[in-house]
Amino acid sequence: MPSPSLGPRVLLRRLREVMAEQTSAQARLDKIVMAIAANMVAEVCSVYVLQGGTVLELYATEGLRREAVHQSRLKVGEGLVGLIAEQAIGLNLTEAESHPSFKYLPETGEELFHSFLGVPITRGGAVIGVLVVQNKTKRHYTEEEEEALQTTSMVLAEVLAASGFLEAQRTTLVGTADLRTQAMVGEGLAEGVALGHVVLHEPRIRIQNMIAESVPDELKRIDAGVLQLRQHVEDLLEGSEALSSNDSSDVLETIRMFAHDKGWLARLKEAVQNGLTAEAAVERVQNDNRARMARTPDPYLRERMHDLDDLSNRLLRLLTGAVATAARTDLPDNTIVVSRNMGPAELLDYDRSKLRGVILEEGGKTSHVAIVARALGIPAVGQATGIINLVDDGTSLVMDGGAGDIFVRPSSELEKSYAEKVRFYASRQAAYRALRDLPSVTKDGQAITLNINAGLVVDMPHLHESGADGVGLYRTELHFMMAGRFPRLSAQVKHYKSILDQAEGKPVVLRTLDIGADKTLPYLRQPREENPALGWRSIRMALERPALFNLQVRAMLIAASGRELRIMFPMIADVSEFEAARDGVLKEREFLRKHGHVLPSSLKLGAMIEVPALLWQLDELLPMADFASVGSNDLVQFLFATDRGNPKLAGRYDPLSPAALSALRLIVEKGKQHGKSVTLCGELGGKPLEAMGLAGVGIASMSMVPSGIGPVKAMVRSLDQGKLWAFMQPLLSSGKHSLRQDLADFAKANGVEV
Ligand code: PEP
Ligand code: MG
Repeated sequence: MPSPSLGPRVLLRRLREVMAEQTSAQARLDKIVMAIAANMVAEVCSVYVLQGGTVLELYATEGLRREAVHQSRLKVGEGLVGLIAEQAIGLNLTEAESHPSFKYLPETGEELFHSFLGVPITRGGAVIGVLVVQNKTKRHYTEEEEEALQTTSMVLAEVLAASGFLEAQRTTLVGTADLRTQAMVGEGLAEGVALGHVVLHEPRIRIQNMIAESVPDELKRIDAGVLQLRQHVEDLLEGSEALSSNDSSDVLETIRMFAHDKGWLARLKEAVQNGLTAEAAVERVQNDNRARMARTPDPYLRERMHDLDDLSNRLLRLLTGAVATAARTDLPDNTIVVSRNMGPAELLDYDRSKLRGVILEEGGKTSHVAIVARALGIPAVGQATGIINLVDDGTSLVMDGGAGDIFVRPSSELEKSYAEKVRFYASRQAAYRALRDLPSVTKDGQAITLNINAGLVVDMPHLHESGADGVGLYRTELHFMMAGRFPRLSAQVKHYKSILDQAEGKPVVLRTLDIGADKTLPYLRQPREENPALGWRSIRMALERPALFNLQVRAMLIAASGRELRIMFPMIADVSEFEAARDGVLKEREFLRKHGHVLPSSLKLGAMIEVPALLWQLDELLPMADFASVGSNDLVQFLFATDRGNPKLAGRYDPLSPAALSALRLIVEKGKQHGKSVTLCGELGGKPLEAMGLAGVGIASMSMVPSGIGPVKAMVRSLDQGKLWAFMQPLLSSGKHSLRQDLADFAKANGVEV
């Protein structure tokens, strides 16, 4: 009978000695398996290493036939070893042969051995091999022995990496059921298809020192780290960071609970007692948690485990001093960045020439990183729950930012068909470019103005590339959101001036700050609200914080000196708000006049129609405004009382419904009646079928994502607007849920390009 193991601490010390020896990598591995076998009082110890992402090869053994080394191979999922790699779980068997997955490898001579204990070797969350001990006697390995082997396997992972055994190797991750293609559907945030390789936005932390020099010192480091972590979580909860980050307070509360969890702390300390450093102990416990997470079917529990994973990462960073995000300038070609979430400025830090796509576990269509991705023309998918645990740096991937489709480790056929899609997109874009200088006029002679929406300096080249008429909406808040503090007057003047300069005389509508709801400024304390979308935001905040508003307006007036200036106010719900905002602008203009500034050659002020109450105030509003612009994202959200960012509600109500289209028709008629131009600047305008519906009800000016200009112009030029309106008018009182199908049928029957 084997005697009890000598304990992992002695073994780890021995491993350190072996690692320090000057010898070949293979000889070192041979010594290591020998040391493990001796320590665990096992007759066999074998290491299998994952090769090419699909095969586990016997790399070293003590006890099995030496000739089998580098000869015996098992596919992932095949035999006990394959099962361990596939499921990232340990197996403890008294009689290996009676397990249904047992596969006999005659070249190894393993028929002599009955009991079997195997654990996955993981590194940075990925399975890279399997470590096995076996005994002749039918015995059950104790929990301590299992724990010891798990701990040893972590150190072994580093030995394998340091020995160069893992080079250029694809890995499978804890929880991935197999190495075949994994499909996932998220929310399409920015259109386009991308093929490439993953770069994790937050690189996995690679631990340098796994083996404790002094266990008492490492225990102290764990205590100090956890204390620091608790403080960090308190700061997150209380401080402004909680308001500006996307962590909801619920998540933070759960994280706080975990940070104080005694069981977690006990497991961390146990791992240190077994001879690991503090950071290795965190990873050790994290690996267990990840393996459990992968096996938990309950989405709620998985989410909680995810929170614990997040906490472990924070603790790892505290212990290793790693920075949360690294600026990436050394990107590989065809990079697809994968992140839990990301601020817009962080996306801009990436080298555009290498970046092909972005995938986020969180993040909805209206998140700012999505807006920036669209501005840069980079395909993006959000709500890709669990993607981080499925991939590692270098994992191959294809994505479709329109449909939200993601394929991890795509098969070559899939890659081919997506490469074809990329070519198709490119050729369509070329066709649209050919339309660039042609007028945007319907077949029956109606001119439809096509503008772009912008919010960044990088958007401006699209104005000329697309051949758009102007900038229908410039979202000024993005500049504020990317700054570390309120931009000073001079910085704002410089920014607006650069936008107007780049427009080269084409009209630009600057919108005053639209902060609130999902648009937060990290340096601005905002009250926590039950319903932020309906809360203290946008023009409401501006009018109560006149200093902020006045400064911005002053910057716009100075930037536009000698040329035309168009300013628009967001979220107007009441005529008096427009009046107050207008008076604020006129006062600033007066101030500048008195101080001898050159004023804009003309000043046009407009209101955004985003709040339904304004529909019944148009007779009062329009005479005092120079123009109006429908913010259909918000107008539709408020008309149907549906959160525009809630994926559960996406598609439930259709902007192409009689209700929404009738509201737009009303605005068009009122605009005509008062002789004021009405434009639309929500996302709707950028989609050909939707834009056709808008043109149908008489919207003659639209502002959209730059990539929409070509397709929408193609639609406009193939449309008979009068015929469409005649078709739509009776349908507006049809009581139908949506006119989408009717419009699609019309387009097909009349050869309209949608
Ligand atoms: C809108 O609401 O339609 C709009 C254009 O403004 P934003 O998307 O910035 O809220
Ligand atoms: Mg809006």
